[in-house]
This record gives sequence, structure tokens and C-alpha cells, in this order.
Amino acid sequence: MNRPILASIDTQAFAHNLSRVRELAPESKIWAVIKARSYGHSFEAALKGLGSTDGFALLDIQDAVWLREHGWQGRILLLEGLFHENELDLAQELHCDLVVHCDAQVDWLERYADKVHKTISVFLKMNTGMNRLGFKPENYRTIFHRLHVAGYHMHHMTHFANADQINQAPTVGSQLEIFSQATDGLAGSTSLANSAAILWHRNALGDWVRPGIMLYGASPTGLYSDIEHAHLKPVMQLRSEIIDIQDLHKGDRIGYGGRFIAPEDMRIGIIACGYADGYPRHAKDGTPVWVGNSIDSNGGVICPLVGRVSMDMLTVDLRNASDAKIGSVVELWGSKVPVDEVARMSDTIGYELLCAVAPRVPVSIK
Ligand SMILES: *Cc1c(COP(=O)(O)O)cnc(C)c1O
Repeated sequence: MNRPILASIDTQAFAHNLSRVRELAPESKIWAVIKARSYGHSFEAALKGLGSTDGFALLDIQDAVWLREHGWQGRILLLEGLFHENELDLAQELHCDLVVHCDAQVDWLERYADKVHKTISVFLKMNTGMNRLGFKPENYRTIFHRLHVAGYHMHHMTHFANADQINQAPTVGSQLEIFSQATDGLAGSTSLANSAAILWHRNALGDWVRPGIMLYGASPTGLYSDIEHAHLKPVMQLRSEIIDIQDLHKGDRIGYGGRFIAPEDMRIGIIACGYADGYPRHAKDGTPVWVGNSIDSNGGVICPLVGRVSMDMLTVDLRNASDAKIGSVVELWGSKVPVDEVARMSDTIGYELLCAVAPRVPVSIK
């Protein structure tokens, strides 16, 4: 038997979440953002579950190669464009759309212009306040015209810094205004909205939306309650089993540093999942873990994490789970325990936990 940990990926949940994006942004085309191995869900699962997207957006051109080799014929956007000039031939061959965010990339494309034999679409990135990638609004038109003259199909893109601040439209509004002014009168479609903007700033969608986290059923804010109304479904279930049980006496301590002290005689369950699997070491006592007899049952109970998470194991309080035994199944996150909840108890956001699921965790795609 293998170690019982598994990341189970529900491709129907993927398809459901994608259709929610379509409902929320019916006029827009969709770049399904699948960077970071599809936020830890695997490219295989993304291709299977999100196949009706208009395009996939990712970072690494090698991942675009993978998509083409596995039959994806729709569009592919390289979200940070090319990292080296020598990738241009490959990008053209793969028919990738390119983000262009810096002067070097513009120079490469100008030099390459007479070698272009297929259309190459450029999503020119404007820095409207995020101050990460992109051209300043005052330089934007000049760059746009240079690439337009060089023969590229030009589109406009920006990224919001504060779209997850719900009900604070001005934070998006000022970036939107800068963007609208700088692109006024220029041809080409627009791409603006990440998940947070799709959920909460519907005036800022643009022609191509770029949902990431919402496709995976987690919240842009890190709070599950913020997305409950959107009826998204968690796509990943991280699960494992109880591999040992200890009977503690009152006053016994658990694990490294003895962080948790048994307040009374109690049973604890030892679970095959640790930080080397991607479970956060910072998870506090009380982080919920679901324990049940069978993974699909609606029964089962939430047991609080107790003691520090170690590399390969974590420990839970079984006082609520009198019938838990070695071999009982647990959900670390999924539909019974929102990943956002585990993240909140670890002072982070669901994004980080999903992306950090370790390569040693087997993935099962259903
Ligand atoms: C990651 C990313 C997205 C997706 O963001 P979510 O918050 O996950 O929806 C969209 N656009 C760009 C440029 C990104 O890098």
C-alpha cells in the first residue's frame, strides 16, 4: 500500500466553476489562469475540466508545449511574455499570445517582425498602479504604436492591485480610469479582471477576463464566507488517513515543542500529512480536519488539529470522533473543510496552500 495521502481533483467542479465565470461575465472571453501547475491541481486536470475555456493563461512556455502536445488547440497566453529572445520561434510555432510588459520584450519583437509568418497577438501590459509589471500610462501609446507598426495584433491589459477589497470600488476605479484614458481610441480588445474583479467589480471586466482562484473554488480574499454566495465548488480534496492513535493522559504533550498539552485523558489521531506534503506548518491548534469512515460520506466530524505539524504527520484531537480508528479517512481540505479556512488558521490565503501541494502527493483526476 502506498502512503494514503492523495490530492483528488474533481473535473466536474472545474467545469462548474468555469460556467459560473461565464454567467458572471457573459460578454467576455475567458483566459483560465493555470500558472503554478494549475494552482497545484495539475495541468492534466485543468485540460480535462476546463476544456471549454477560450484560452489558458500560464507562465512557462514549456507548459504551453505540454498543452499543445496534449491536444489543446485553443489560445494560450504567456502571462509574463517571453523571458528570453530565443523563445520567439517556439512561441510562434505554438501560436502563443504574448504579454509584453517591458522595453526588452518590445525590442525583441521589433527585431523579430520580419520573421513573423503567423499572427502573433500581443497583450500589452499597462502598469496602472500595481507597480509590478507593465508600461507607465504616459509611455503606453508610443509602445503600442511601435508594435502595431511592426505588424503585431495588439490588445490591452492591466492587473488590479486591490480588487479583493470588496465594496471599495474606488480602488479598482482609479486604475480603471487610468487604463481607459491611456487606451482611449486605440484598437484592440482589453483584459482586466482577475477573480476578485469578476466577483466584485463587474464594471471592470473587459473583453477577456482572467479568473484564477475562483476556478479552483477558493476565495480571492482568503475568506470562504466572501465567496459562498457565488456557488463555486472546491476542485481539490486533499485527503489522507489516520495511521496511528495515541491514548494520552491529562498533561501529556504532543509533538515537537510540546505545543499542545492534553487537558484531560484523550485520544489523538496521527495523520499521514505534513508540511512536506504542503500542509502549512503554521497551522494553529484548532485548525479543522474532517474525520470519517468513508471519504464520500456526509457523516464524519470535524476534529481540531492539536500540536505542531511535522514533516510527514499531523495530529488531531479525537474527542469528537469516538469511532475513529486506524484507517479512518480524513479531509485536510476540500468540500467539508474549505482550504480558505485552513489558510486563515495559518495566516495565509488559499492560493498559497493550493500551489504548495508537494509533488510527492499523488494526484487523482476524476
Ligand atoms: C494570477 C493572475 C491572475 C489570476 O488571479 P486570481 O486572483 O487567481 O483570479 C490574473 N491575471 C494575472 C496577470 C495573474 O498573474
